[in-house]
Amino acid sequence: MDDGLLTIGAFSKACRLSPKALRLYDELELLRPARVDPDTGYRYYAARQLERARLVAWLRRLGMPLARIREVGALAPSAAAEEIRAFWARVEAETAVRRDLAAFLVDQLTAAPRKDTTMLELRYFAHSDRGRTRPENQDTAYAGTRLLAVADGFGPAGAPASSAAVQALRSLDTEEVPAGDVLNLLEEAVRGATRAVQDVAGDADDVGTTLTALLWTGSRLALVHIGDSRAYLLRDGALFRITHDHTLVQSMIDEGRLTPEEATAHPRRAMLLKALPAGAPTSADLRLHDVRPGDRYLLCSDGLCGVVPDARIRALLTSAPAPDEAVLTLITEANTSGGPDNVSCVVADVVETAA
Ligand code: MN
Repeated sequence: MDDGLLTIGAFSKACRLSPKALRLYDELELLRPARVDPDTGYRYYAARQLERARLVAWLRRLGMPLARIREVGALAPSAAAEEIRAFWARVEAETAVRRDLAAFLVDQLTAAPRKDTTMLELRYFAHSDRGRTRPENQDTAYAGTRLLAVADGFGPAGAPASSAAVQALRSLDTEEVPAGDVLNLLEEAVRGATRAVQDVAGDADDVGTTLTALLWTGSRLALVHIGDSRAYLLRDGALFRITHDHTLVQSMIDEGRLTPEEATAHPRRAMLLKALPAGAPTSADLRLHDVRPGDRYLLCSDGLCGVVPDARIRALLTSAPAPDEAVLTLITEANTSGGPDNVSCVVADVVETAA
């Protein structure tokens, strides 16, 4: 045996990876032995491989998939550090979606009837505009007693795609929503919307739509979201974005590879990572929102939020007295800023019902 080589047993003890794991990592080319005895097949490792082996062990403990560990292992330390940071940012973003779902379920299973007898309802308005440059309007905006929705279609049949997605949700607007059943109801509605968009798209793989909708349960708003249309909440003068864009640039922002400012000028900023009908229906984000009287909700397509900065949206939302004025002012603002895309807005105010 060469000087300085360790048997697999000794190496295993030193790096705290089992011999079985070491054999697997050899096969996966994560960590090749320094030498394999041609007669016995025994694996031998060099002491200098310990550092690499320990890194593999730590990355396994972090939950990084083996294929990704192989990539990280091939990088220089600074690039490897960047990869680990990006991996973890992604884990946290995915965990946030699961956290919301868990909170939704807990909420749904424990929800008690509201103690106060204040009845709340929505005052709403929806409008969609072609904008200044696009030949047709492929957006769909809708607002009713219980349902608020914006869909931004793309591809040759983008307009019927966005319309079909919203139409598939329309039954939610007229049905009484059983409080304990919101999650299943939304899940089923997204399934229906997916099928409807599939029917429109046919064999075309470049046809689809975003879908961002709020469903009023009588005391709360359930959010369903897929794509890069957005939902905002204006509460006490502050504007909160309550959706996460399913876009390439947002995932790069999440991973620290891009700043929000750089994203606004990124050549692939329109690239969606999720939309209907692509992907499983469960890939839509679902969340339940407690509302307060005085809350103002905004749903919009990227023809607004890609053109008008959040601060300006906040100012216009704040100063408009009623939903219809808010919607029309926002659309006018997008158009006076060039109107490069179809622009759709839904604004809904949570108000106490007159007794
Ligand atoms: Mn758009």
